[in-house]
Amino acid sequence: MEIERHEYDVVVIGAGGAGLRAAIEARQQGKRTAIVCKSLFGKAHTVMAEGGAAAAMGNVNPDDNWMVHFRDTMRGGKFLNNWRMAELHAKEAPDRVWELEAWGALFDRTKDGKISQRNFGGHEYPRLAHVGDRTGLELIRTLQQRVVALQQEDEKLHGDPEAYIKVFAECTVTRLLKDGEAVSGAFGYWRETGKFIVFDAPAVVLATGGIGKSYVVTSNSWEYTGDGHALALLAGAKLINMEFIQFHPTGMVWPPSVRGILVTESVRGDGGVLRNSEGRRFMFDYVPDVFKDKYATTEEEGDRWYTDQANNRRPPELLPRDEVARAINAEVKAGRGSPQGGVFLDVSTRLPADEITKRLPSMHHQFKELADVDITKEPMQVGPTCHYIMGGVEVDADTGAASVPGLFAAGEVSGGMHGSNRLGGNSLSDLLVFGRRAGAGAAEYVNGLARRPAVSETAVQDARAEALAPLERSGGENPYEVHHELQRTMNELVGIIRKAEEVSEALDAVEKLKERSNHTASPGGRIYNPGWHLALDLRNMLLVSECVARAALLREESRGGHTRDDYPKMSPEWRRKLLVCSATPDGATVDVEERIQPSMRADLLVLFDREELSKYLTGDELAKYDAVKE
Ligand code: FAD
Repeated sequence: MEIERHEYDVVVIGAGGAGLRAAIEARQQGKRTAIVCKSLFGKAHTVMAEGGAAAAMGNVNPDDNWMVHFRDTMRGGKFLNNWRMAELHAKEAPDRVWELEAWGALFDRTKDGKISQRNFGGHEYPRLAHVGDRTGLELIRTLQQRVVALQQEDEKLHGDPEAYIKVFAECTVTRLLKDGEAVSGAFGYWRETGKFIVFDAPAVVLATGGIGKSYVVTSNSWEYTGDGHALALLAGAKLINMEFIQFHPTGMVWPPSVRGILVTESVRGDGGVLRNSEGRRFMFDYVPDVFKDKYATTEEEGDRWYTDQANNRRPPELLPRDEVARAINAEVKAGRGSPQGGVFLDVSTRLPADEITKRLPSMHHQFKELADVDITKEPMQVGPTCHYIMGGVEVDADTGAASVPGLFAAGEVSGGMHGSNRLGGNSLSDLLVFGRRAGAGAAEYVNGLARRPAVSETAVQDARAEALAPLERSGGENPYEVHHELQRTMNELVGIIRKAEEVSEALDAVEKLKERSNHTASPGGRIYNPGWHLALDLRNMLLVSECVARAALLREESRGGHTRDDYPKMSPEWRRKLLVCSATPDGATVDVEERIQPSMRADLLVLFDREELSKYLTGDELAKYDAVKE
């Protein structure tokens, strides 16, 4: 059977914020660029982003600058972040937001007409550029508009709008192709027809987002099956920080059909408070030692902070997400939860009704439609939901290059930037900063090639056989059952609080599910067959889940999005270590190694107080700090 083929310089897999920004950059650098996405164009996960993009523009508080943002990001990630990425991100995010505005994004404004910025957990100053609580939609709309503008330019110049940038929507990539060590293209299928497609390209940028669909309770959309993580792993690249999963503290808990859907942090940023069944603002009981001097100790001080940030400290509802999620978990476990198993999040007593509907229109609509709750009159019930993976493809901070020549990654699929815990708002800016860098990195790599790597016919035939296998079996395992079992296993055994015995049990279960997934059968042919699509996605979810569980078992400390019941404290020795996952090309074996990460550059280290650093760093690292300070 003939397979459709296309030749490009750069293939970007994913059309969310990271993928679109990477593709725009590659095209602007003169590269023929394909954008491939398994969803409809415009319906990437980024569309769902609500709160905003963090960038130290200082529009609302002029004391903000890249150094404050850098410090907040490192603190949020509990100092495990790739500091070079955190530095580039903090320095470049404002330019990326202004660039979006130049391309037509309509952000909310301050009274004096600047881009408005809102408060979010872990950010010292109001920092999130936003459009109500629908920021992701505006971001994607603007980037798409930019793609169209480039296509119009190409039509004028070359007589063909798709001469230099073309979108392949509803097209899923299942394998990266290689020539020796280097990337030579990608193999995939059209979701609608089931027909196969091959891209010949010396550079591939992965921008496929996260992995949330391995968990039952998640804020993530159907696309989040860890495809890019698995594609990278199977192509020989490394994944880092996979044990760190962000459970967002506030997902809907009721009704069951909408459990996990996100309740934006903007609710707390705009004044919403968390209460238990006794009416207590319990977050005051959960401020950890490392943050004690930065958060209010009384409700009065916390409330004053919203209008006078210079003389008051933030309310503890705005602690980083990992802290708030653990606190909610503990309250529910202690029997002080809400009737439906969450806690109360109340904005109705904090802001006038018209202000709530103006600032939080989507939340108002979401609760009214889905739960019959009017958030201007009554509190919401919320609980933790699997939201974001800090782990991902290990990349060079400056270029987005993975260890496999020709492979690049940006956005949620890449790892390092957020360390053990991401601050809200730092993803949208991450997509823009590192999407641009990965697109530029890929273009530069192509410029430097002496020879174009070739796609091997054997590799294409192997990918084809792998993709067809579930269709050719009869009477095998049901992919939906295997998926459900995986989701339950990950939720219950590798969730927000972890124990060695439970994680080991999860690994045994994943091993058995991997075996079962080798026998899945998807009757019904190739034309729009969701059972077949799921059978193919399962390989990815299982691989990624194995990485998460293996790394979670090895890391014997608690930090950010990894809480071990049996090792409840942070350890300075563990902070220095990255857990690096690799796999065999068939995915049968996953290996995890410890690696010491490079210590922070001296000029960045001295941006912190010694007292704060002493809570995180080893004695050796502090000696380096002392030497620089002398
Ligand atoms: P995505 O936007 O998810 O794009 C992934 C793309 O890859 C899609 O086009 C998908 O179709 C494609 N794809 C995946 N696999 C394949 C494959 N095999 N073949 C082809 N294509 C594939 N972050 C913030 O900073 N601020 C916020 O306010 C915020 N709010 C959020 C609200 C919600 C409800 C959620 C769930 C997340 C929120 N986040 C927020 C996080 C943020 O939205 C995501 O981390 C970010 O959008 C990820 O962008 P991305 O470009 O990496 O991936």
